Amino acid sequence: MPLLDWDPTQVEVAERSDVGQVRKANQDAVAEVRAAQAEIRALIVADGMGGHRGGEVASRLAVETLTQKLETSAAAPEEALRVGFETANARVHEAGGRDPALLGMGTTLVCLVLDANGGAWVGHVGDSRAYRLRDGRLELLTDDHSVVGELMRAGRISPEEARVHPQRNELLRAIGTQPTVLVDVQSVEVRAGDRFLLCSDGLTSMVSDAEIAEIAAGPELEQAAQALVDRANEEGGLDNVTVQLVRIPGTGAGPPGPRALGWWIAAAASALALGLWWALR
Ligand code: CA
Repeated sequence: MPLLDWDPTQVEVAERSDVGQVRKANQDAVAEVRAAQAEIRALIVADGMGGHRGGEVASRLAVETLTQKLETSAAAPEEALRVGFETANARVHEAGGRDPALLGMGTTLVCLVLDANGGAWVGHVGDSRAYRLRDGRLELLTDDHSVVGELMRAGRISPEEARVHPQRNELLRAIGTQPTVLVDVQSVEVRAGDRFLLCSDGLTSMVSDAEIAEIAAGPELEQAAQALVDRANEEGGLDNVTVQLVRIPGTGAGPPGPRALGWWIAAAASALALGLWWALR
């Protein structure tokens, strides 16, 4: 077991899901899983699409299925994630085939799993995202499985162009649209003081990464989550907006915070006073 500089039981989570300014229904779904038996904590965001009700049903069904799999699986987190995603795909696809009103429904699905030994994994299908925020720098952990995601990775369009591209809603991979799905699962490194952000494209299509980094680093986690949603709505809120912010306890090895700075000033003042006392006595 690696020696950890943070306590997995002290991880803090704030989440918000908002309908936005234009849509009538919120087709995003969000969940937090605490599986005591498997000693894991998981965060899930899904963004449904299709039909009148389809999107809502797909995202909810996918989140419920993955939650249940993570809570009951005895497998290692990486394997539990993969099976959870594949089972969610099968259930959504099957439900879409049974009811003509739900035909063709699908959803994105992104999940961060943290275990008691300090391991972390991200599972992902679609264009919802996972980011890691470390020392003020926002790092995208997932590839968007979308037409504009491919164009961006090929260097043919910029993130700014992607946000207004006519094909920006076209996914290349989703949960439930095909009988089987290829799932991205990766292990990610975690340090004390890191933050993670899971979000639907209702945030990233409205707010730039630079602004997300600044807001997500806010001192109070609940306020930061709310501020992200507020910012997307100020920019037009054209889509449902969902965010989950995770704070790994500890301050990390970043630049000294105000408290550390205060300690150094106090230490320097004491040394100076001691020096003066020696010199003058
Ligand atoms: Ca969306």
